[in-house]
Amino acid sequence: MKAVVFHKPKDIRVETVEDPRIEESRDAILRVTSTAICGSDLHIYNGMIPQPTSMIVGHEFMGIVEEVGPGVKNLKRGDKVVVPFPISCGTCHFCNMQLPTHCENSNHNTYGPEGEILQAKGAGAALFGYTDLYGGYSGGQAELVRVPYADYGPRIVPEGFTDEQVLFLTDIFPTGWAAIDWAELKGGETVVVWGCGPVGVMAMKSAWLQGAGRVIGVDIQPYRLNIARNSANAEVINAAEVDAVEVIRQMTGGYGADVCVDAVGMEADRSVLDKALNVIQMEKGSMDALESCLSAVRRGGTVTVVGVYGSPYKFPLYKWFDKGIKMMGGQAWVHRYIDNLISLVRDGKVVLDDIITHNVPLSEASRMYDIFNKKEDNCMKVVLKP
Ligand code: NAD
Ligand code: ZN
Ligand code: ZN
Repeated sequence: MKAVVFHKPKDIRVETVEDPRIEESRDAILRVTSTAICGSDLHIYNGMIPQPTSMIVGHEFMGIVEEVGPGVKNLKRGDKVVVPFPISCGTCHFCNMQLPTHCENSNHNTYGPEGEILQAKGAGAALFGYTDLYGGYSGGQAELVRVPYADYGPRIVPEGFTDEQVLFLTDIFPTGWAAIDWAELKGGETVVVWGCGPVGVMAMKSAWLQGAGRVIGVDIQPYRLNIARNSANAEVINAAEVDAVEVIRQMTGGYGADVCVDAVGMEADRSVLDKALNVIQMEKGSMDALESCLSAVRRGGTVTVVGVYGSPYKFPLYKWFDKGIKMMGGQAWVHRYIDNLISLVRDGKVVLDDIITHNVPLSEASRMYDIFNKKEDNCMKVVLKP
């Protein structure tokens, strides 16, 4: 089959590889019909989460069930499903606590930041196509993919919907939803989302759905601010041109926002960031998204972090303490949210596919990684068709 294979930073190619096969009783093999490139894939692409060997990448995918193992009773050949990006067993200590991203049974093959082998217990759940650190499983940017614990993760998609309408249930919609769910809105709050990428825009859509009174998006790419305005009905701030923290204080009577969401994460590619910033911003110094969230939130407010941080980070503890900020972050609990989110899509309460800017054959993956990484061609979300 054809698959998108990571070799080394900035070297991702479509190649012919061996077909996957059923290895465990609870496995399924899926024929992938659509798969997306995620900002998280860029961390691998840019070498920020190291991967020592070649690997099939991709964790946002859906498709048609080709074959199931004897332990999978809820799916049959021909079913069309979306698949949560964390690989979770559904039966362990953490899965029973509805914390699927901390599953104890999926991540057997993990390396720490120094290349040391970690024990399975103590590491988080495995993810599809997301380095040995996250289990070393092949991903779904491919014609076929093996789905472990297929009786727990995959959900049959409602009839009459296109792939594009439901594909983002695999990751970015549940992730945006989590960013707001963790803030436990009571209604009417001002929510600021740092980062108007796919995840940030999904967080803004989720903020309205969960009762926000005002939604503000911050980014440094004008075209992405436009998408946040048009797709998520957000007010927007260009942090490359103004001091976003100061503007947010002015917009909130000097108090700061009730909730700030970091949907940026660790710097993807410094050269891309530098290109977007003008001289004023360079002189101002720190553009750090998480630190900006801690500055822009009101006293007693909430900061949630869905942007990925994969290495030690200098955290302004004094700010968190002094302002009494509530914080939560991590990988999104996709399995916990997905059924409710499918209902929202099915009932027309939310539209997800309006952020797709590129819908191309899988064979173009290499070029699309480059464009998405460089934020060229007004690229927001890429869907690949095997
Ligand atoms: P993306 O790279 O497309 O978007 C990031 C956005 O942040 C870009 O629009 C960029 O211009 C903007 N940005 C960069 N620096 C900024 C700054 N200093 N101030 C304001 N904006 C800035 O990525 P994405 O797909 O939207 O993902 C966003 C983050 O979420 C990534 O770190 C990704 O790994 C993470 N993620 C986490 C989960 C989870 O479960 N927690 C799931 C999916 C993605
Ligand atoms: Zn993703
Ligand atoms: Zn588990």
